[in-house]
Amino acid sequence: MDDFKKATGSLRPQELEAVYAISRAVAEAVNTEAVLDEIVQLARPVFIFDNMVLYTCCQDNNSLEVKYARAIGRGRFHEADLAWGEATAQQAHLTHEIVTQVEGAGSNEPDRTNIRYSLGLPLYTSGEELGALVFIRFGGPAFLPEQIHLAEFIAQHVAQLLQHRQLVERIADLEARRRLDNLQEDFIATISHELLTPLGFIKGYTTTLLREDINWDETTRREFLNIVNEESDRLRELIDNLMDSSRLQAGTLRMNFQLIRLDTLLKDIALRAQSRNPNLSIELNLKSPGLQILADSTRLGQVFDNIINNAIKYAPNSKVVVTMTEFGNRAHISIRDFGPGISPQHLEKLFQRFYRVPDTSTSVRGTGLGLYICRKIIQAHHGEITAESTLGEGTTFFIHLPLDPNST
Ligand code: ADP
Repeated sequence: MDDFKKATGSLRPQELEAVYAISRAVAEAVNTEAVLDEIVQLARPVFIFDNMVLYTCCQDNNSLEVKYARAIGRGRFHEADLAWGEATAQQAHLTHEIVTQVEGAGSNEPDRTNIRYSLGLPLYTSGEELGALVFIRFGGPAFLPEQIHLAEFIAQHVAQLLQHRQLVERIADLEARRRLDNLQEDFIATISHELLTPLGFIKGYTTTLLREDINWDETTRREFLNIVNEESDRLRELIDNLMDSSRLQAGTLRMNFQLIRLDTLLKDIALRAQSRNPNLSIELNLKSPGLQILADSTRLGQVFDNIINNAIKYAPNSKVVVTMTEFGNRAHISIRDFGPGISPQHLEKLFQRFYRVPDTSTSVRGTGLGLYICRKIIQAHHGEITAESTLGEGTTFFIHLPLDPNST
C-alpha cells in the first residue's frame, strides 16, 4: 500500500480520484464484465482513448484471446466493440514490457483517423501470465509518459481483477471436484450396499436350499424360493434404475410418445399397486375423465408407480389419494399420502440424483434415484413435478402435463 501511495504521488487529484475509484470497483467486483465497463467509464475522463481491449492467455499460455473489448471513442467505431491491437498485446505479453505502436500510418493514408496509436501493457503477477491490456487512439495523439504511467495503474488493477477471478474459478472448480468425489464415493457405497443386500439374500437362501443334509418341507422351500424371487426382482429394478439414470444423464433415454388416456393409465397403476399391496387403501379421484396426452405410457407409468411406492414405503399404513383435474391446457395430477412428511429443507433436494432424506429409517431400502428419474421423465413430457409436505401431516406430489391440443 505504501508503494502504491509513493507511486500514485505523481498523479493529479482528478487522476488519483479515478485510480481510487477503479481500485474500489475492483475490490467490490462481483461480475468481471461489469467492472471492466466501470473501469472504462472511470478511466476515460482522465485518460483519453477510443478502445480498450483485454487479451487473456489461452490454456497453452503462448497465445492470447480477446476477453473484453469496448469502443467508446470516435463515432465511426460506435456501432461495435472492436478488438484491435493484437500485435501490441502479443509483444507486451511476450516481453513483459510496455509497448507503444503506430499502425496504419502508410504514406498513402489520407484519413488521419485510420492511424491507430496503441499502448500495450503486460498483465502478470508473480509467476503468473495473465495477458495484456491495450488502449487505442484513432488518429493520435501519441501516448505521453504520464499517460502511460496512469495506464499502468489501470493495468495493475485489471491484473488484480483477473487474478481474483481466476482464484474464484479455481475454488469453484475444486469445490465441484470435491463434491463430485464425495458423490462418487457415496454413490459407490450406496450402490454396493443396495446391490449386495439382495444378492446376499439370494446367495444365502439358495445355498440353504441346496444343502444336502437337510430335507426342507414344501412350505419352507416355497417360502425361501419366494424370497429369492423377490430379491431378484429388486436387483433387476435397481439395475434398471441405474441404467435409466445414466441414460437420462447422458440424454440417450428414448421415449416412445403416443396419444394416451390419462385416467386409464392412472386406474391401471392403482390396480397394480393394490394387487401388490393388498392392505393399501388407494382412492382415485379422476375429475376430468377422457383427458388425452402425448406420452410414453411405460415411462409415465413408472413415475406414478414410483411415487405411489414411495408413499407405501415412507408413509406405511397411510391412505393414498390420487387426483386428476384439468386446468388451462394442462392435466394436474396429485398423489397424496398422510405419512410423516418431509421437512422443508429437504423438499427441493428430493429430485436430485442419489438424494435421500438423511433421517429416513435405514430399514427402508432405496437409492435416491427414483424421484430424479421421475423429474427427468416428466420434463421429457414438457411437464413439471413438485412436492409439498407438512411434517406430521403428509406429502403431496404434483405433476402438471400439457394436454394434447386435439383432445380438449
Ligand atoms: P429412494 O426411495 O430410492 O430413496 P426416491 O428418489 O424415490 O429414492 O426418494 C428420495 C427420498 O425422498 C427418499 O429416500 C425419502 O427420504 C423421501 N421420500 C420420497 N417420498 C416420500 C414420501 N411420500 N414421504 C416421505 N418421504 C419421502
